[in-house]
Amino acid sequence: MITTNSSCRICKSSQLRKFLSLGDQPPANRFIEKKDIDAPEPQYPLDVYWCANCHLAQLRDIVDKQELFENYIYFSSGMPKLSDHFRNYAEDIMRRFLRPGDFVIELASNDGILLKFFKDRGHRILGVDPAKNIASKAQSLGVATICDFFSEDLAEKIAKSEGKAAAILANNVVAHINDHHDLAKGIAKLLDERGVFVLEAPYLVDMFENLTYDTIYHEHLSYLAVHPLKTLFEQFGLEIFDVEIHPVQGQSIRVFTGKKGAHEVAPSVAACIEREHQLGFDAFESYQKLAERVTASKKKLIETLRELKRQGKRIAAYGAPAKGNTVLNFCKIGTDLVDYALEDLPSKHALLTPGMHLPVVDRKTAESNPPDVYLLLAWNYLKPILAKEEVFRSRGGKFILPIGDEITIL
Ligand SMILES: [Zn+2]
Repeated sequence: MITTNSSCRICKSSQLRKFLSLGDQPPANRFIEKKDIDAPEPQYPLDVYWCANCHLAQLRDIVDKQELFENYIYFSSGMPKLSDHFRNYAEDIMRRFLRPGDFVIELASNDGILLKFFKDRGHRILGVDPAKNIASKAQSLGVATICDFFSEDLAEKIAKSEGKAAAILANNVVAHINDHHDLAKGIAKLLDERGVFVLEAPYLVDMFENLTYDTIYHEHLSYLAVHPLKTLFEQFGLEIFDVEIHPVQGQSIRVFTGKKGAHEVAPSVAACIEREHQLGFDAFESYQKLAERVTASKKKLIETLRELKRQGKRIAAYGAPAKGNTVLNFCKIGTDLVDYALEDLPSKHALLTPGMHLPVVDRKTAESNPPDVYLLLAWNYLKPILAKEEVFRSRGGKFILPIGDEITIL
């Protein structure tokens, strides 16, 4: 169920140095049923390494992807805030790069929420997603979807049967892929000469600036920055020509890549690489300092929760996202501190969080038994949640942010 890489997935250097260990953890989306509470849970090392050659921050211990993704329970359309994000994204790509009828492919297309915007404007579309339940939902919504993992082989098949693409989109998936060379080769084969490959991923800068270490879980194999991605694509005749930074799921980068020389290279590419240099991404000591901050943050969070318990406060978690499980398992926050996790996604209701086994409950159950304090695991939705929970807060209810150099209570 687990393999260990001996070299960097971008540059193949064997100079990988460990800088952070979050302990052995179960896969962050492996929620369990109550009847399985005593069954053994698989736990795998969650250790992060830095490549001394290309500077990619990465996991070496790779959990089998079938185990992680085959029955994925995350549906994009279930997240209302994301719909506007995807609409704006689609309109931007169409305006900048597409001609009427152009072919658009999306990797990890989920239930087709993004591709539908292209289809509605007359583009030919194709999704690729390995999760059977999600791919069939997309099909039923009218989004043609191949149920498979993207690979060079699959890229060749698609190019042969459907033609090459004017745009290939990959949101929050590149970091999930172990074989980056296979990915880049596939993109090079499937992209037409003026085509654009657009990837969006959490930006490592965010982890340094906001201590968002909860983006670390087994599904996220790489913690991406522009410099290592440039090293990757250059090996396969591809060139990054623009980078945008978006405030979605923390800070994300949207990286635009084409065939070498096909697009004019914007100053944003060099600007990002310079920022990464300023933050010390090319020096191991910077990562060691980051790890020290993570350890200090854990200590402060546990002390805060214990103090609240001593004061007789009741604590629950707000949201049960995958990233929250990294925090819960790393800090060992179980039902002795936190009673339950309120979650709006019905697919997680009545389950237990992996590892720490917090019961996941729906809104009605939480509101009939409200806590004094919510640990805000879904901090990326901070603003809409604070607005939604005005009544809770007006009665004295508090929110604690689980990450950061200092503990924030709102
Ligand atoms: Zn490397």
